[in-house]
Amino acid sequence: MTKFKKIIYILTVILMTQMFISKIHAKSTKDASFNVLVLNSYHQGHYWESNITMGLKNYISNNNESNINFKVEYLDFRVNHNKEYIKSLKDMLSKKYPKGSIDVIYTVNDEAYEVFKNEVKNINSNFYKLPLLFSGVDNNLEETSKEKENMAGIYHRDDTLDLMILMKDLTPKARYINIITEESGYGYSIYKEVSRIVDRYLKDQVKIRHIKSNYLEDITKELSEIKNSEDTINVIGGEFQNENSGKYITPIEVISTIKNYSSAPIYSNDQTYMNAGILGGSMDIGQEQGSIIGEMIIKLKSGEKIENIKSVPEPKVKSYVDYNSIYEYNINPFSVIKDVVVLNKEPFELLIPTWMKGVLIFLKIISIIIIIGIIITFIRFRNDKLKRIEIQKRAKEREKLKSDFIVNLSHELRTPINIILGTTKVLEKSLEKGNLDKDYILSKLENVDKNAYRLLKISNNIIDMTKAESGMLKLNLENCNIVCVVEDIFESSIDFARRKNIDMVFDTECEEVKVAIDIFQIQRVILNLLSNAIKFTPENGVISVYIYKEKENVVIEVKDNGVGISKEKVDYIFHRFYQVDNLYTRHNEGSGIGLCIVKEIIDIHDGKIQIESEINKGSTFKICLPRHLKVNEMQNEGSSIKDINKIVDLEMSDVY
Ligand code: ADP
Repeated sequence: MTKFKKIIYILTVILMTQMFISKIHAKSTKDASFNVLVLNSYHQGHYWESNITMGLKNYISNNNESNINFKVEYLDFRVNHNKEYIKSLKDMLSKKYPKGSIDVIYTVNDEAYEVFKNEVKNINSNFYKLPLLFSGVDNNLEETSKEKENMAGIYHRDDTLDLMILMKDLTPKARYINIITEESGYGYSIYKEVSRIVDRYLKDQVKIRHIKSNYLEDITKELSEIKNSEDTINVIGGEFQNENSGKYITPIEVISTIKNYSSAPIYSNDQTYMNAGILGGSMDIGQEQGSIIGEMIIKLKSGEKIENIKSVPEPKVKSYVDYNSIYEYNINPFSVIKDVVVLNKEPFELLIPTWMKGVLIFLKIISIIIIIGIIITFIRFRNDKLKRIEIQKRAKEREKLKSDFIVNLSHELRTPINIILGTTKVLEKSLEKGNLDKDYILSKLENVDKNAYRLLKISNNIIDMTKAESGMLKLNLENCNIVCVVEDIFESSIDFARRKNIDMVFDTECEEVKVAIDIFQIQRVILNLLSNAIKFTPENGVISVYIYKEKENVVIEVKDNGVGISKEKVDYIFHRFYQVDNLYTRHNEGSGIGLCIVKEIIDIHDGKIQIESEINKGSTFKICLPRHLKVNEMQNEGSSIKDINKIVDLEMSDVY
């Protein structure tokens, strides 16, 4: 091979490779985008066409076909449909979509189809020989098989007969049919179809009137001129505009306006009105047709030839009724046959006559009442049972407390009696022996005295508790300075605390707080708290009393750092006979009724007693007494009870 030949050979190889690559590239870019020109006959927002394109786009995206482009055009044939307009439209679309930029044309309904079927046959058109898909086209349109080679789609199936059957079922007495339509080929086709069926099956039985206009005002005007009679029904189809603004009126608004002029039930075979307040209809579903076209587009994109794609009739219509309208128009619910789809019915709602609904509601109310009755009886029975159990439990507890109390009490009684008996024996023996030492005898008598007081305290407490329980514990109220009353008692108890080396601290926020109290009873209360504090505070402990004023009360706090009471037991200590420790574990004397009486006394003073306690940390008793004063009463300075020492001796008799 010469050098020149070699160069020619290499160049040829490079050129061929490049051509091959560009071919592949061209193929792949073509593959990358598949352009579908969607031609809508009417305006943007036209309900039927929107439903179809919605179904089409959903189908494509559900099948993950992301590289199919839709070029959507609205031909506005309702406004313009003359030769010049169609010509200018074709020119405009030719410029906008040059040869090769579109892979498939889809005419959404018959008017667009009529115009563009010729374009795919026209050798001079940019759309020559492009596959054409269609929907809404009458299958009796005459096309040669040659022409049909380039086309496939959905043929229109007339659904008027289904609509008429539904109307006959639901409103069998109808004698007049108002056919309300837009002024268009579509509107006329509805009228034509209804007339054909009436002529064929209902001649002389039913009269038809065609009310047609693109403007709702014209429709309502004509409706208002017709006498409303019970044997009339309306059939509606198409879209309506406002005469002044030219704007399209929403289906819901159209129906509600028509209802103002005609009380007759409204039917439709136009999906636009499906949920707009009509009684019912037999309808094609645009979305279903969109899906069929979508499937055809995917086939074409994957290389299938249009001549191999079979045209199909529209899916069979379904009949629908609106649940609420059945009752609005007094339709017999049993006339709705099984195949009819009931819209807007909740799953719990039944398609039955209103009177039956009344009976059902009545039965429901009765059963609800019965159920509530059963529940109430059950709850009552359960509560009664719980109450009985609670009462039994309480009775058992009381029994136990009582028997504990009796055991304690007998112990409490026996101890001082034994001591008294023992002491008198000792005294007797000493006297027999001639031992007449005065101090010795006095100390023995003091012992007898103390234990006699202890017995007295127990018997007083039992009497007071019984009085309190029967409401016999009466107060002898006097106005006095409570600070003095408490302080006097406090001072008299210091001696008893000192025996255990307990520090006693008294503090008050103010020197004088006047209140009406039963001094004797309050002294007993304070003494009881102090005697408990001394009993339950170990040696070297501290007991403090603090008095202060609150908004409407005076508060007396008795605090110790003794053994304390556990949280579970704190709630019980004001109960009768309650002692935290039982007879065998306790270290102190007591009958377990002191705090019960304390609470009774505070209660009848309209006061409150609270306790805060922590085991091994100590207890704080807080008494709140209302700062009431008795009118026309001289105030008592301090204690009016003369023999305070006697009371102290009495209350402290079980403190050692
Ligand atoms: P008692 O006469 O047995 O002391 P109370 O009714 O006065 O009866 O007290 C009931 C029980 O409450 C006592 O037995 C004791 O267990 C407990 N208690 C009362 N005050 C205190 C306190 N300051 N510290 C610890 N425990 C106390």
